[in-house]
Amino acid sequence: MTTLMMKFGGTSVGSAQAFAAASDIVLEQSREWERLIVVVSAMNGVTDNLIEGAQSASRGEEQTYRAINSKLRDRHHAAVDQLLLKSDEREPLLAEVDRFLEDYYNLCRSIYVLGEFTPRAMDTISSRGERMSARILAALIRYQGGQSTAIDATSLIITDKQFQNAAPLMDITRDRVLEELGPKLDDGTIPIVTGFIGATEEGLTTTLGRGGSDYTAAILGSCLKVDEVWIWTDVDGVMTADPRILPDARVIPVLSYSEVSELAFFGAKVLHPRTIRPIVEQGIPLWIKNTFNPTSPGTRITLEPENSNGKVKAVTAIEKISVIMVEGRGMRGVPGIAGRTFSAVASEGASVIMITQASSEQSICFVIPMDTVQPVIQAIETEMKWELARRDIDRIRSLDDMVIVTVVGAGLRKTPGISGQIFSSLGKAGINIFAIAQGSSESSLSIVVAANDSKDAVRQIHREVIING
Ligand code: ADP
Ligand code: ASP
Ligand code: MG
Repeated sequence: MTTLMMKFGGTSVGSAQAFAAASDIVLEQSREWERLIVVVSAMNGVTDNLIEGAQSASRGEEQTYRAINSKLRDRHHAAVDQLLLKSDEREPLLAEVDRFLEDYYNLCRSIYVLGEFTPRAMDTISSRGERMSARILAALIRYQGGQSTAIDATSLIITDKQFQNAAPLMDITRDRVLEELGPKLDDGTIPIVTGFIGATEEGLTTTLGRGGSDYTAAILGSCLKVDEVWIWTDVDGVMTADPRILPDARVIPVLSYSEVSELAFFGAKVLHPRTIRPIVEQGIPLWIKNTFNPTSPGTRITLEPENSNGKVKAVTAIEKISVIMVEGRGMRGVPGIAGRTFSAVASEGASVIMITQASSEQSICFVIPMDTVQPVIQAIETEMKWELARRDIDRIRSLDDMVIVTVVGAGLRKTPGISGQIFSSLGKAGINIFAIAQGSSESSLSIVVAANDSKDAVRQIHREVIING
């Protein structure tokens, strides 16, 4: 049995034309593969709109969520009308869209009355976009002669209770997926599953983090042991840099799982960072392809790409980060300082994006998202109050508004002198480096620079090391 998993991102279902292109791709591939399963994102921008409406309601604004509600209704109705005007599918589909938006409206109203919302309420709200788009795509495929049904992942992906960033409980999820999707796939149905969302064991809706539909595809793909996962998006594949920053970025034909994981972790939006883990264990090949240019080959991601020449492949950046430095001569030889520092960071729920090794035990230096700086510094100060009083630690300070620029490629490990080339490309442009860290897989090198040097740093590395290197 050959099985293919395909995921369509927000732009790939962002309009009637996009839905039509996605449906054509699904029908075409359904002739090539014995079993086909599809994951779909919300229409692009819809998740942002849903969240914005709820946030404004909590601030006591009534107009915004009302306006958003009617805008979302118009947008979904317009897509359905363009695609399914003469179909029997149209009326029931519009009724479902209206029902989801009515619920949204009512939820926003309660938030408006209460003046607050919980992460749990937010997940119920932000899951609505996928529920609508999955139904539209399934109806369209049926209208065009395919056998298809929309499925809410709340019955498939069972997660922990970490609302807004939930993790799947893989054993239960696998059982559910095999039980519910297995028979459908076997009788030739193409399930269109909502990306991004799941549910707790009690049935409360959760979400897997922003951009999480890629992760949904990987989770389901791994449970079903599919032969390949294809991620359809709005660019020709993974590129040497973010094409919005560097229009001359090029498509990378092949990447390893570890290279693409580093790229995703360090900010390349093209793939959700948690996507690789479920599929790497089974070595399922992953493709990134363009819905609007389906004949271009895309990027293939596998364990050990054969033509991985020694080159550096891509450069990416994470903005709005801060470097935290805990410094003091008295820290030397005091056991547990690093452990206590990182526990204090964790107690604030902040994630450490990168740790840099100082040459001595006189400082600890790490990088966190800028919006978590204040509570993190306070937590460390509280934890270290005696060390600060005794001057074992002199100070805890932060460098704010910084950017991590990360260079990715297995070539970093294999090619002598490549780091030198990277640093001198920055030196030539007069860009100051604040911190450096080598990724644990050795296929990445991260450099912290000031925000106003970020674009130049990316451009310099791209030109001097990737294109002309
Ligand atoms: P989707 O909705 O299909 O998941 P996303 O917007 O999440 O699409 O991701 C695709 C976008 O990622 C592209 O349009 C591009 O702007 C951005 N991007 C950032 N870095 C890269 C990169 N290195 N290669 C390709 N795209 C990138
Ligand atoms: N719709 C969700 C988001 O915008 C998930 C996704 O697009 O992958 O974050
Ligand atoms: Mg995405």
